[in-house]
Amino acid sequence: MKQAKEIIDIVSDAHNVVITSHKSPDGDSIGSSLGLYRFLKSLNIQSTICHPDPCPNFLDWAKRSDHILDFENDTVDVKEAMAQADVIFSLDYNGAGRLGDDMGALLTDAKAKKIMIDHHLNPDDIFDVSVSHPEVGSTSQLIFELIDASGNLDKLTKEMVEPLYLGIMTDTGSFRFDSVNARTHEIIAQMLKTGLNHTAIHENTFDGNRLDKLKLRGYAISEKLEIISEMKTAIVSLTDAEMQRFNFIKGDTEGLVNVALSVEGVEMAAFFAEKDGKIKISFRSKGPAVNEIAADHFQGGGHKFAAGGISFDSMEATIERFKSVIPKYVK
Ligand code: 5GP
Ligand code: MN
Repeated sequence: MKQAKEIIDIVSDAHNVVITSHKSPDGDSIGSSLGLYRFLKSLNIQSTICHPDPCPNFLDWAKRSDHILDFENDTVDVKEAMAQADVIFSLDYNGAGRLGDDMGALLTDAKAKKIMIDHHLNPDDIFDVSVSHPEVGSTSQLIFELIDASGNLDKLTKEMVEPLYLGIMTDTGSFRFDSVNARTHEIIAQMLKTGLNHTAIHENTFDGNRLDKLKLRGYAISEKLEIISEMKTAIVSLTDAEMQRFNFIKGDTEGLVNVALSVEGVEMAAFFAEKDGKIKISFRSKGPAVNEIAADHFQGGGHKFAAGGISFDSMEATIERFKSVIPKYVK
């Protein structure tokens, strides 16, 4: 990482460092934020993590005793932190829009030096330092590269690498995606040498299912999964009422789109979830470039094989729109 020294120089001179990441936090946004926070702390640099919305319950364990401010609940504190910051890190996202309108405006207006570390395609040019590696599987891996390239591997502790392992694990589908390579495993090897308990990370992340969550998943699969054979596409949708019936909490539909993608013969899957009168869409693929579908038709984007978007139409109209456009993308 050629910008590593520049980044360390910038933060060493700073008094107020803020770490931000994207809306709808996931293992990589939480993991890269906490990993960078703990790394900076090992350099005696204090920072404040500010996210747009709260950490999902199933990832709460990752925080240990550290604190993440969220704009939804800690609006005043986040506004103050962003305004006072002389450095703002943007981790795991590529433009202010991914913070949501209100927090995005705080980033745009901030006088701070803006440092992006990310692995999404096509970053905005609002950043003073831009570390953009779409070929790398996770932002958490990039935080490890920052630690390495700045000559600080001797500072690694198991508390520091624990969230980075979490981010690499979740963004690589537990080390199965194409983005995993020898370097990924070399990094994991160095992490394990700190005494990291990787089994506990997998269990904490994947084995804490509430019964309601599993029942919602069962309902979605048995009642709401539609296969469009000629397009090798699977669709799942859940309305707000359906989710409420199973006492939905954030994170409950995590991974559902991957279950749809796992159906025999399916190469593309889309999950439609009603939220606050809008339809949030998750796309996954083993073939078609779903980031293009998301960008062309659903005001979104992401990676070639994992993307997201939004629709302001009804559920029915949104699904119809998806069905009508996919023939263009499916070869
Ligand atoms: P998920 O389906 O897990 O919510 O998102 C998968 C990926 O799609 C994310 O890592 C992110 O890159 C991208 N993504 C999700 N929602 C949006 C969105 O609304 N806009 C953009 N540009 N990308 C999104
Ligand atoms: Mn990521």
